[in-house]
Amino acid sequence: MALEGIRHLIECHCVLPQYRNSNPPVFHKFIVFSAINDDQVQKKLAQCNNCGILHRIVDICKSEIVHGLEEGSSLRSIEDLKVSFPQRLSDFLVTQKLDISTWEFIEFLIDNKLEKDVVINKTEAGDITQLKILQINADGTFKIRNETRQDDVEVL
Ligand SMILES: [Zn+2]
Repeated sequence: MALEGIRHLIECHCVLPQYRNSNPPVFHKFIVFSAINDDQVQKKLAQCNNCGILHRIVDICKSEIVHGLEEGSSLRSIEDLKVSFPQRLSDFLVTQKLDISTWEFIEFLIDNKLEKDVVINKTEAGDITQLKILQINADGTFKIRNETRQDDVEVL
């Protein structure tokens, strides 16, 4: 498929308080959504959710820190994204406390009429992982369902 979306991890240069004394340092990572069009990762700015510094996203899992740019008020917030979401879906997503990359991913799927499951929550108990999944259908309808897995699933 020529057009796809991905959530990926970007490493910042800040360190969360609980890792302050770690050696080697454990840098904070945050999740960013990117659209990929014909193998080209959409260039965008994203803000670290810990220190607030801006990153230029140049590739999957790669960014350059933007110096000298204060607070990007042109960046979209969850409030901005909500504007184009169906009311009931946006009400529901707010209750799930998702980060902005998940909102952007869902918006991308809706805009491009792509059918996809988005994992929005996961609970692990022993070898059982229960997922809460938002199922997005190509006709613009949605459904929330549970799925239980007994293997290890990597979920961003
Ligand atoms: Zn940071």
